[in-house]
Amino acid sequence: MQRRHATGRRVALAVAAAVAMGSMASGADKRPNILFMMSDDHAAHAISAYNGKLIQTPNLDRLAKEGMRFERVYCVNSICTPSRATILTGQYSHVNGVPVFNAIDPARVTVAKLLQNAGYYTAMIGKWHLGSDPAGFDHWEVYPGQGVYHDPVLYTKEGSKKYDGEYCTELEARLAIETLRARPKDKPFFMMLHRKAPHRPWNPSKRLDAIWRQKTIPEPDTLFDDYATRTDAIREQTQSIARHLTKTDVKDDPPEGLAGDALTRWKYQRYMQDYLACIQSIDETTGDVLKALEDEGILDDTVIIYTSDQGFFLGDHGMYDKRFMYEESLKMPFLVRWGKNIKPGSVNADICINCDFAPTFLELAGAPVPADMQGASMLPLLGGKAPPDWRTSMYYRYYHSPGDHNTARHYGVRTLTHKLIHFDGKGQWELYDLVNDPAELRNIYNDPAAQPTVKALKAELARLQKFYGDTEDLYADPKTWPKASSYVNPPPRR
Ligand code: CA
Repeated sequence: MQRRHATGRRVALAVAAAVAMGSMASGADKRPNILFMMSDDHAAHAISAYNGKLIQTPNLDRLAKEGMRFERVYCVNSICTPSRATILTGQYSHVNGVPVFNAIDPARVTVAKLLQNAGYYTAMIGKWHLGSDPAGFDHWEVYPGQGVYHDPVLYTKEGSKKYDGEYCTELEARLAIETLRARPKDKPFFMMLHRKAPHRPWNPSKRLDAIWRQKTIPEPDTLFDDYATRTDAIREQTQSIARHLTKTDVKDDPPEGLAGDALTRWKYQRYMQDYLACIQSIDETTGDVLKALEDEGILDDTVIIYTSDQGFFLGDHGMYDKRFMYEESLKMPFLVRWGKNIKPGSVNADICINCDFAPTFLELAGAPVPADMQGASMLPLLGGKAPPDWRTSMYYRYYHSPGDHNTARHYGVRTLTHKLIHFDGKGQWELYDLVNDPAELRNIYNDPAAQPTVKALKAELARLQKFYGDTEDLYADPKTWPKASSYVNPPPRR
């Protein structure tokens, strides 16, 4: 097992600096624009570049076809607000002060502030969900809290505006395109376009609702997972398709007399019809944004990224939602197009984490990466070659317990071949062999043959906790969590 963590900084910085210096010589700022498009709860397996069984997403797939698809990008804490804080700060939750649904301190150093200081025009459109006004953006227009799907309100520096008759996904794209067109043309831009969809309760547009209600969605192999060999956590969760979807989620009463597995199947269909309809809207409007970049003549000068703040269970293991360190929830989709700088149709399988995004953006801009950022720039990976000391394991930590969906707090390590999870409040462990059991159905923690692996992974886990400065007791007691603040209801606007 490799022991070192890559920084990859020296190589990448040289590349970025060469770009910046070249542009200075020609008198124009040729640093690339960065368009970071992120949806909320969009599982990679609901993008056809990753899995063609559920939906076709031609516009998202275009980024993969003309750029790079990442196979192993993981979030370090699988819920909305912490993931967003990690992306902005390049730091784990215990370092950036956002382990649960608390507000980010607007005084914190973020990639937006650093890019703004480096001469980028910075903009943030859509779901912010960090409990304080966005800092470091020249222009921002964000939903209060989660936002709503229909007739949304958006806050700006100047006040608030209600968009009656509008659907969030279409509105976000339109505002992003307007912002792109109105941007100052003498500097590169950094835009975060954060989609509200497909977060629960999965309300599609009327047009796509009508289409998707006619469809039958294939069921995952693990819809009726019996949880044999697993610890208590997965049995005690309250995010199951069978028992925890509400009428608000499925929108209709089930047909009379439906019960047992048939009822679960009906709920799964209603859930997934709505979820995928929301995603089709994201895909279509991503096409509009790409076209706008083409019309502006800046498609190839822009690093275009599509990701999600975490993964999501699509009936996998009988669940919806996220939080657990299991693959469907841990994995983030990550597609990147950057003109001729990325080989079309390339695939990367190195282990990346959402702490890596901020250092990547900074190196693209030729700006220094602060020493307290905990990720490494992915720029060498975009060039097709990982530095020899690139990480071969990642550390995960979920704190929000007690919290929504009764997901027990846990932490763990994922390597290229195995995953060890410790539900520390319960003193229970799970170990998966991801090569022979990629669906994570057989917990082999107690198998005698697995004990050398258990020992090695516990050592790796301890190394990673030390490396990142985390300790088991940190935030274990909810009384020590940072205050939830006003994340649902920011201060009233004019
Ligand atoms: Ca989310």
